Amino acid sequence: MKFSKLAQAYDKISKASGDAGKVPILADLFKRADDKTLEALAHFTLGEAVSPQLSDRLGIGPGAIRDALAKISGDDPSEIEGRVKESGDMGEVAAEIVNGTDKLEVAELWKRINRVVERNEDRKQLVEHIFKNTTSAGAKYFARMVLNQMRIGVGEGTMERAIARAFKVDADSVQRLYAMTNDIGIAAREAKKGERALARANPILFQPYQFMNAQRVENAEEIFETFKDKQIIFDIKYDGVRLQIHIKSGRGGEIKLFSRRLNDDTASMPDVVEALKRSWKGKDAIIEGEAVAFDKSLKKKLPFQAVLMRRGRESEIEAKAKEIPLVLFVFDLLYDNGASLMDVPQRERRERLKKLFRETDRVRMTESIESNRAEDEERFFKRALKEKQEGLMAKDPAAIYEPGKRTDHWLKLKPAFETLDVVVVGGIWGSGRRRGLLSSLVIAVRDKGEFKTVGKVGTGFSEEMLKELTAKLKSKIIATRGLHVEIEPSMVIEVDFQGIQKTPRYSSGYALRIPRFKRERVDKSVREADTLERLVRLYKQAH
Ligand code: AMP
Repeated sequence: MKFSKLAQAYDKISKASGDAGKVPILADLFKRADDKTLEALAHFTLGEAVSPQLSDRLGIGPGAIRDALAKISGDDPSEIEGRVKESGDMGEVAAEIVNGTDKLEVAELWKRINRVVERNEDRKQLVEHIFKNTTSAGAKYFARMVLNQMRIGVGEGTMERAIARAFKVDADSVQRLYAMTNDIGIAAREAKKGERALARANPILFQPYQFMNAQRVENAEEIFETFKDKQIIFDIKYDGVRLQIHIKSGRGGEIKLFSRRLNDDTASMPDVVEALKRSWKGKDAIIEGEAVAFDKSLKKKLPFQAVLMRRGRESEIEAKAKEIPLVLFVFDLLYDNGASLMDVPQRERRERLKKLFRETDRVRMTESIESNRAEDEERFFKRALKEKQEGLMAKDPAAIYEPGKRTDHWLKLKPAFETLDVVVVGGIWGSGRRRGLLSSLVIAVRDKGEFKTVGKVGTGFSEEMLKELTAKLKSKIIATRGLHVEIEPSMVIEVDFQGIQKTPRYSSGYALRIPRFKRERVDKSVREADTLERLVRLYKQAH
């Protein structure tokens, strides 16, 4: 299948309304595709230009697209930027300029992008190659895909229903396999083989599954209400980064660390790998834990920012590992010696995990208590805060692990001030002392695959932090209007605020009162940012 053909289908899908309109068109595409094309087209349709495990390394932003368009048209990049400003869509501008020979095949495009990223080859050349070898429609959707703006209204749910319809399988089974592999291509491929293939959805070593997430509660009473008279596992909620760790034991063994964004982050944390190798006694396994930064004596916990100095690092890795050692607090076991433990109760998973490693000062079990008494919870919560950790996790001892879900088998309790994890979608260039810096950021929450603005943040950052954020965001600028810029949604930041108001000024219909920057959530992808639904819930609680 030609990529241009797929692009035409995307045009049709974007005009079709709702699932009723979109699902049949998608299902028809899936049915007609051969195996390789099917995998590629499943990824593309979700806006994935590269394998999800490599997403952080894609390295093609608005700048690369702009430069390639400038080269093809012979215009100055600033001219291209002007046109993007007018149309508000870089994809449309690409469509106006590109008119290549219609050669590019869907499967080949997927292979090529992955190869370039894996081998870290020249991205510019890649973009130019693509624009030379596809049509105007192809260019439009390639640009939109890499800029995270597909605008065809197809989220994960629609996708799963379309795959189910194409291959006459259950959409829930498709969803489950997708959660288990975090790879919509694999989900589509297995769905094509039929329901039996989907039913074998078990964790696979070195293929990260989607994390299970916790529901946030605003106070301890909610925990006791949710779990009624049950015993509850209270775990300290550590202030670090979550890791999904895949262990192949024995000779020729290997350990891989996957970040919360499900990218392979092994290279940046060799100390964690070493520490685990020394303490692991089990066989092949997948475990979860939180890596927390400590000082050199391993006695004093360092603030969250210190972990960020370690995570995803590409240079001075060893030096930083000495300066800011990480301690791994493990809390879950999902795969043990060939068997999935996803359906085994929480308490048992925890007990089994304890027996599989030797505790050292670098690898420890998360501290926990089991109780159903408010006094115990209160005491333990205070202790977590005293140790400068984030709060508590409350877990149902009888519950199974549900990948890809935010369940209420896990509840998280933090101190009473509110924070939201929002996506940066724009900014305003500063003046005076903040000249050359994006001094104010336009922030948004998630709403069914789109981003809806909720305000502007201009306080809470140090000069240093602003510089760092500006440097990162600069390459993501899609269009400039005077001092205002539109930014590709890719960065998640945590903000606190004083309240929520209804307003027509922002596209969400709500505005945060006095939002303040707390920190960048490099560990979160935009798909994990807070939703409009949560914002509305918070609004209702307060009004
Ligand atoms: P949040 O990042 O606010 O959505 O809270 C959930 C996160 O808490 C998880 O993704 C983990 O990174 C982190 N966490 C810290 N300690 C624990 C623990 N003991 N059990 C589970 N998750 C934990």
